[in-house]
Amino acid sequence: MDRHDAELKIAALKERLNEYGHQYYVLDNPVVSDAEYDLELQELIKLETAFPELITDDSPTVRVGGEPLPYFEKVEHRTPMLSLGNAFSDQDLRDFDKRIRNQIGDDLAYTCELKIDGLAVALTYENGRFVRGATRGDGTTGEDITQNLKTIQAIPLKLNQDVTIEVRGEAYMPKQSFLKLNEQREVAGEEKFANPRNAAAGSLRQLNPQIAAKRNLSMFSYSIGYLENDDLDSHYEALQLIKKLGFKTNQETARCNHIDEVIEYVNKWVEKRQDLPYDIDGIVIKLDSIEQQEQLGFTAKSPRWAIAYKFPAEEVVTTLREIELSIGRTGVITPTAILDPVVVAGTTVKRASLHNEDLIREKDIKLGDTVVIKKAGDIIPEVVNVLVDKRDGSERDFAMPTHCPECDGGLVRLEGEVALRCLNPLCPAQIREGLIHFVSRNAMNIDGLGEKVIAQLFAHQFIQTVADLYRLERDELLKLERMGEKSVDNLLAAIEASKENSLERLLFGLGIRFVGAKAAKTLAVHFGKIEALQEASEEELIAIDEIGEKMASSIFSYFEQAEVTELIGQLRELGVNLAYKGATGSQDLSTLESSPFLNKTVVLTGKLEQLTRNEAKVRIEELGGKVTGSVSKKTDLVIAGEDAGSKRTKAEELGVQIWDENQLIAAFAEIINN
Ligand code: NAD
Repeated sequence: MDRHDAELKIAALKERLNEYGHQYYVLDNPVVSDAEYDLELQELIKLETAFPELITDDSPTVRVGGEPLPYFEKVEHRTPMLSLGNAFSDQDLRDFDKRIRNQIGDDLAYTCELKIDGLAVALTYENGRFVRGATRGDGTTGEDITQNLKTIQAIPLKLNQDVTIEVRGEAYMPKQSFLKLNEQREVAGEEKFANPRNAAAGSLRQLNPQIAAKRNLSMFSYSIGYLENDDLDSHYEALQLIKKLGFKTNQETARCNHIDEVIEYVNKWVEKRQDLPYDIDGIVIKLDSIEQQEQLGFTAKSPRWAIAYKFPAEEVVTTLREIELSIGRTGVITPTAILDPVVVAGTTVKRASLHNEDLIREKDIKLGDTVVIKKAGDIIPEVVNVLVDKRDGSERDFAMPTHCPECDGGLVRLEGEVALRCLNPLCPAQIREGLIHFVSRNAMNIDGLGEKVIAQLFAHQFIQTVADLYRLERDELLKLERMGEKSVDNLLAAIEASKENSLERLLFGLGIRFVGAKAAKTLAVHFGKIEALQEASEEELIAIDEIGEKMASSIFSYFEQAEVTELIGQLRELGVNLAYKGATGSQDLSTLESSPFLNKTVVLTGKLEQLTRNEAKVRIEELGGKVTGSVSKKTDLVIAGEDAGSKRTKAEELGVQIWDENQLIAAFAEIINN
């Protein structure tokens, strides 16, 4: 390449990389993957090495990070916070080692540290007290984020010794917190963070520290930027001191005497990095002796005595062969990419959810495309983008069907939703998925009824509705694949046992739209019996805390359906419990021996002041009583509120015991206190 071409190419690369850098460092919103960024940066380094006269001071090869955001106070770093040179292979590491030994000889040691993928921060302590925390910024000037950093538990506010020191380290978000945060953001309709690094950076650069406080961040400290009366000889010693002062340091740090040991350490973590609860993007190797470090010095951007080994890209390229459609229990059609198998972050990936039609269109995905795959949060395979340049014309457009692939019902897109739905309540796929949900752990929890068994039972037409599960016969089950006598008996016992579940499990299992496990519990507690819920009006439902309008409307329409009334009737006949069993669940009621309500038939009448009639009823039932509607000879107790009318009179005539509301409350209190 001649000088002119190089100049043009360098200008284009610089412009692109500076834009990527701005998005990444300043806006916490990367627009390309790290692998793509690093590739272009390497290309720029190569060109600048060949034509050093073309290096300018705005080149990303000499600039560190990004400029600080204007709305934070600026902090001048006492010594610059630099970047690190990169190594991508064993050979790069050996070259680094050789360069060092050429200068200082063979008597050396390295520390190897995990390269935590977060945000570099500098913490200043005066006489042992935390006074300031700053981001790296452009290396010279950072942002004052003291208030946000104070919310991190791993950052001590007071040290174990009254020293004046600046400690540097990486603030990060653990993987679990990242996944949880993104789930919450999805529910709230907010944009998700691309990775834990950006989530951590975004959280620490919030103006409101309460947001950072909620984000569950942590920090590993890894070096000293300044120390009053510094007499440390080695980096390793510095780490020991930091730990002693009360900072969190990383336990995996190792001291190696030879580059072979360093490479061994690196390879170990290439394998094991997925097991860590936080993201790392490489290994940092530092020459240990401070004296030797000083001998080697710095380039404009990084120390000559340290290097960052970058892990092989966790994004891989493969071919998308097909798009498969699956139908969920609520009728939502989800497209899934079928891929040529590839290993991503340690496991073979063959499929990746494409979520919905919009995403396929946004990413311009065609069948046969070459695609980049990664695992979001290191777990869930995801199609990052299509490599459009690799198209050869053989790729085919994909169109979502207009009809359900399982039942041929028309598909619709409900207002405000991105998903396509099959609205046919008799759609076999939905029924099958609904049955799988019904038996699942948080619903009726029927052991031995996995997806495969349900699919077989359904295919043999042994089950159509959840009630059919309770009609299964032993000989039918024995006809299924891989079902021996023992497993059939166990399965039947598990089905039988599930009849005793408390109402909330059934309500959740029925799969009423928007009713999750928590709402199911609220409904069960509130109504006590399914009959009361069936009769509830929409207004009554909305009046319950935690039940919003959307959910109330969905519950109301669900119970209005004739098929649902019939289904519940069948479940009742089959002996399935339809009542809330109280906080004690299916526990043996003999534990409530001291309850005055145990095995008693109780009638509530009149107006209660301190609790609703329903609350009283639920409590009495929790305590082993039975609440009925009318007074008869069988009634053991009548609770008469204000203005109690004919029921009270009848109780008096029959000589049935009558309590007022205060007596009822006193009885509840006594049981609690016992
Ligand atoms: P770097 O990743 O090359 O390494 C330096 C940083 O490593 C330090 O500032 C510190 O934050 C961190 N670190 C973690 N653990 C450490 C330890 N134990 N000891 C010392 N340092 C440790 O630094 P950089 O200049 O911030 O980032 C460059 C990288 O960022 C690129 O290689 C690229 O992958 C990524 N990047 C991506 C984009 C994008 O658009 N995707 C844009 C810019 C940069």
